[in-house]
Amino acid sequence: MKPTTRIGIIICDRYRCCAGGKCLRAMRNREGAFSCYGDAEVELVGFTTCNGCPGGNVEYAGDEMVKNGAQVIHLATGLVVGYPPCRSIAAFKAYLEQRYGVAVVVGTHPIPKKYLDMHTRLGSWKSPSWEPLLAPIMCDAETRARYD
Ligand code: SF4
Repeated sequence: MKPTTRIGIIICDRYRCCAGGKCLRAMRNREGAFSCYGDAEVELVGFTTCNGCPGGNVEYAGDEMVKNGAQVIHLATGLVVGYPPCRSIAAFKAYLEQRYGVAVVVGTHPIPKKYLDMHTRLGSWKSPSWEPLLAPIMCDAETRARYD
């Protein structure tokens, strides 16, 4: 029997009406940040938003997700591709890891082409600190186009 990893997903509240289609498709296809799971089973045990800047629900969502068995919490790709990208990604990651002892992955689905194009024009991700955050969700051009 394959091992099961239980995960939670926290999305940016700017996309609060999102039905999760891209995240769930990428989870099913093991694309973007979900590629790290390979053949392992993945069970989604929580999905919610940060509840708007400055992200107060991260505290409560983390607690509930971990109580529901989450071993990994994903900060959705929307935090990275929003205009502007969320300024609290590092703080959320550090808080969740230190408060709940859970692994935190930045990103879910592959970066859609239109967001890469616009952020490249804006220079949003020029700082080297973005490189490790972008790497798992950058994917190839064909994949990015499928997530537009
Ligand atoms: S920018 Fe960050 S803090 Fe603001 S709504 Fe989005 S995820 Fe939450």
